[in-house]
Amino acid sequence: MKPRQPSGDPGALPHVPVRTCVGCRSKASRSVLVRYVLEGDRVVVDENGSKPGRGAWLHPDSDCIALALRRRQFGRALRSPGADVSGAVLPDA
Ligand SMILES: [Zn+2]
Repeated sequence: MKPRQPSGDPGALPHVPVRTCVGCRSKASRSVLVRYVLEGDRVVVDENGSKPGRGAWLHPDSDCIALALRRRQFGRALRSPGADVSGAVLPDA
């Protein structure tokens, strides 16, 4: 899926894409969630939301990350149960 306006503000669009946080399972606008992707077999933060492939969306919140790790949601969301989740940390941590 390609954004129609690469530099546009998602909040200004009439339809805001919604994603489900893999930690707390609540839905939120993708602009408030952090995207994680697989790089090789490592889970890494997709800072710009532009890396190819399947993504896992998560609130930038230590509780959501802890929940996602405990429930192995990264492996499930990224279709890679054996993924190395040591890189799945808060973007600003
Ligand atoms: Zn969450």
